[in-house]
Amino acid sequence: MATQHIPYGRQNISEEDIRAVVKVLRGDWLTQGPHLESFERAVGDYCGTPHVLTIANATAGLHIACLALGVGPGDLVWTSANSFVASSNCALYCGAEVDFVDIDLQTYNMSVAALEEKLEAAKAKGRLPKVVIPVHFAGHSCDMKAIFALSKKYGFAIIEDASHALGAEYDQRKVGYGQYSDIVIFSLHPVKMITSGEGGLMLTRNPQLHHKMKLLRTHGITRNPAEMRSPDEGAWFFEQQMLGYNYRMTDIQAALGESQLKRLEDFVVRRRQLVDQYNTRLAALPLELPTEISGVKSSYHLYVVRLKNGTPEARRKVFDEMRAQGILVNVHYAPIYWQPYYQTMGFKQGLCPQAEAYYNSALTLPLFYGLSDSDQEQVVLALKKALEKL
Ligand SMILES: *Cc1c(COP(=O)(O)O)cnc(C)c1O
Repeated sequence: MATQHIPYGRQNISEEDIRAVVKVLRGDWLTQGPHLESFERAVGDYCGTPHVLTIANATAGLHIACLALGVGPGDLVWTSANSFVASSNCALYCGAEVDFVDIDLQTYNMSVAALEEKLEAAKAKGRLPKVVIPVHFAGHSCDMKAIFALSKKYGFAIIEDASHALGAEYDQRKVGYGQYSDIVIFSLHPVKMITSGEGGLMLTRNPQLHHKMKLLRTHGITRNPAEMRSPDEGAWFFEQQMLGYNYRMTDIQAALGESQLKRLEDFVVRRRQLVDQYNTRLAALPLELPTEISGVKSSYHLYVVRLKNGTPEARRKVFDEMRAQGILVNVHYAPIYWQPYYQTMGFKQGLCPQAEAYYNSALTLPLFYGLSDSDQEQVVLALKKALEKL
């Protein structure tokens, strides 16, 4: 077989994207320029959300979202066991404690039943979470209506980690609309749905949260005289009102993100077409294929299959075999609490059995806008071959 490499994900940059970036480089503002606001407005229009803020990356966005919701020492934040470490690290940055909710084996998202059971137990112990962070794994929205209903019953706030789900839909709306949460975070890392290099977005329907996140994004500083607590001393005057960060996106990045956003619908259409082709071509193999719950339209950031009755050793063999053939398959994710850092905090294996069973059999196949039909066919053939060798 030819020694070519097919990655699991890849950005797609057009000449128009490049022109948009170069235009900024030739202009007056590299940071704090006009594209930040126009990109925010474009995302707001796309998602139907009144308040949008660009941010340096989704991790910074999750951090600021936790702070805006008042997360601090003594608080508890829960997220899905099946996610990238940033989903829980954000709460640790605030000095809070974290815990993990198990997943369901249909969507690989936070299980509503497991969440409810854990909430009941936490209530009995008087130790309920302040914030829950559902993660729309692979671009498939969590059951937000059910999680929102639980938030009312048990009194927690919700941050959607929608890093995978820009372009996805839930309950007739784009993910990001935010009718069932306080804050929604998107990532614009190159492997995600669209990119700005590094970058992220914070969306909310709540003007107070928007105001607080805007301050936290830039040192806790305001330059708006209407918001000042002391008398205005002149046009140079600014006030630091809380301890914030420099988590800003550059205008260069915003121009790229804005240009990419225009292509998002095309990206989603092509990803979904590739998913249909995978589903057809892999149907007869001993694999669990991804499913879509009714009322959800996934953005398909990832295409994850699971080996039926697969052991970790079998998954490893298939993984190594495909990598040897230049197919750069991946695995998303080992349960966060399996990470050595989390083990030092006292987390033990066995905490979330479904997330662990999922991890042991999961394999992420290449899926991205620029994947050609013929490269996809190579992936299918390599997977068939690897499974036959088991
Ligand atoms: C990528 C990702 C993040 C972090 O995004 P960055 O923009 O790289 O900081 C957070 N959560 C999930 C689920 C992700 O996949």
